[in-house]
Amino acid sequence: MTYSPGYRDALEHAHTHATAFFESLPDRPVFPVAGFDDLVDALGAFDIDSSAGASDVIDDLARIAERGLTASPGGRYFGFVIGGSLPAAVGADWLVSAWDQNAAGFASSPFSSAVEEVCIDWLIDILGLPAGVSAGFVTGGQMANVTGIAAARHQVLAAAGWDVERQGMSGAPGITILAGAERHLSIDQALRYLGIGTSALVEIDVDGQGRIVPAALEQALAASDGPTIICAQAGNINTGAFDPLDQICDLAAGSDAWVHVDGAFGLWAAASEEYRPLLRGMERADSWATDAHKWLNVPYDSGLVFCAHPQAHEAAMHIQAPYIVRGEQRSESDWTPEWSRRARAVPIYAVLRSLGRSGVSEMVARCCVHARRFAAALDEHDGIDVLNDVVLNQVLVRFRDQDGDHNGRTRDVIARIQRDGTCWMGGTIWQGASAMRISVVNWSTTDADVERSIEAILRAAA
Ligand SMILES: *Cc1c(COP(=O)(O)O)cnc(C)c1O
Repeated sequence: MTYSPGYRDALEHAHTHATAFFESLPDRPVFPVAGFDDLVDALGAFDIDSSAGASDVIDDLARIAERGLTASPGGRYFGFVIGGSLPAAVGADWLVSAWDQNAAGFASSPFSSAVEEVCIDWLIDILGLPAGVSAGFVTGGQMANVTGIAAARHQVLAAAGWDVERQGMSGAPGITILAGAERHLSIDQALRYLGIGTSALVEIDVDGQGRIVPAALEQALAASDGPTIICAQAGNINTGAFDPLDQICDLAAGSDAWVHVDGAFGLWAAASEEYRPLLRGMERADSWATDAHKWLNVPYDSGLVFCAHPQAHEAAMHIQAPYIVRGEQRSESDWTPEWSRRARAVPIYAVLRSLGRSGVSEMVARCCVHARRFAAALDEHDGIDVLNDVVLNQVLVRFRDQDGDHNGRTRDVIARIQRDGTCWMGGTIWQGASAMRISVVNWSTTDADVERSIEAILRAAA
């Protein structure tokens, strides 16, 4: 039996469906029509006791998916912090699947290990990170935070005479985690995964934009005399605000505290001269987490962790087995929680080459310009308020009600916008009040997309 005709057929069908999907993005409703039960029924309608041809399976999948896909890779999806996928990234991602390399180490795939090495150099350069930082290619921001905080845990406990990789957490010196009250909840999740526990968290007061108040951090730092990790944030998921990293690093410099920066989308501000000042001081942190599947616009799953103490990073993550032969080459699994995994650096490489430094910078800046346009166009209307300082790509909007029920009215308008299908925005609770979030992180969003979406919002609010 020869396998290649099977591949050709399946891939040609996939190519047709994928292309049709991309071409439908400008016109399809941004949120799909099918309900959950509908989709489960359609997917489950096949007899698992029989087999099917590969291209038939692909065709069926595409037909059913058609009614259940969100147009999140398109230019008018502004929910959560999502991002699309650039053409070079999608093409490269297809190759990753075709090559099916195990990116655990040089021994299983020399190519994957070399791609990571080159990406790290380029990313250090584009993000303005210190030379020599170590890096891991993980599934997303969540695991980037886990990995960064695992390196931190190693270091702060080693300084207290405790070998956490060998001795575990029970009986370990207590760790204090200092994080802002508006941190992303993946920090709490990381503390659970790492056995530190959320009770180790000391919440630091934040200002109206969600930024850590330095004086509050100073106090908490003075009160914490044992192993301490500060989890700072670059880019609040609601407001886009940045913790004052410069002051945080100043305060940490007077102690043994480790500074971890959750910059899932905000770290990309560093790629743009215009927005880099928001991150002032970040190069003095100890570890950084970011996502490539958000603002770099590569497919899921793609997160990045960087660490200024490669030895701590490696101590927390490395794997040694008698059948792993080590040379000078990069061994990818030394830097991530995973062992076997896909070669997820390849689409990152493709985007960095395709856009180049200035292209990444322009993509970031363009999204921020779109965000400001949204804010300006909406704020000038009676009954609509922009709640945040639009410093980056996030806009928080409230719709006012004459009877004073701003929360009810805001939820109502959001529901109408979502039903209309021109664009998609989600809701949130910001410091006690309902708000609509607009997040601009898609490479393909045009001025016309923004204007059409503004019209749809105003229609829904009318
Ligand atoms: C998205 C996000 C995360 C989590 O990243 P995932 O890729 O969803 O795991 C963490 N922190 C911030 C600030 C985020 O925006």
